[in-house]
Amino acid sequence: MKKELEDKIFNEFPDMFKDRGNLHASLMAFGFECSDGWFDLIYNLCKDINDFYKGKIPEHFSVVQVKEKFGSLRFYISAAPEEVHNMINAVEEKSYSICEQCSKPGRYRDGLSWILTLCDKCLDEHIKTRYHRERKKDEDFISDWQKEHKAPFVKGS
Ligand SMILES: [Zn+2]
Repeated sequence: MKKELEDKIFNEFPDMFKDRGNLHASLMAFGFECSDGWFDLIYNLCKDINDFYKGKIPEHFSVVQVKEKFGSLRFYISAAPEEVHNMINAVEEKSYSICEQCSKPGRYRDGLSWILTLCDKCLDEHIKTRYHRERKKDEDFISDWQKEHKAPFVKGS
């Protein structure tokens, strides 16, 4: 996620992320490990948790990691009552219908080696970028290999 978006959340809810400088207690030093499209989900969740605690985050509460995993948002915390876990579960579930890249309505997409929640447009971009990158790798390989062996490239060799 873009730094300015991360900072907006860190600055607004500092007590929820108080452990983020301490790698033994929290992985938040790595920031929000997902794309910008889920900013609103995360921001609103932090706001709801903050409201639940009426702005007084207890000492034992801390957000320890926020990331994308298998196409959905994961929001890990230290310890909290069931109500807070229910809020988090609901938002994680909702992330399956919101494009991680651009926040438009999205769907769970299952590729050969990746799972992401994306809208049609971002899925298209994702496949194109991936295809070009893999193709470029092949081409580099062809030229090096051909230079050395003066032989045609065989895919999968
Ligand atoms: Zn999108």
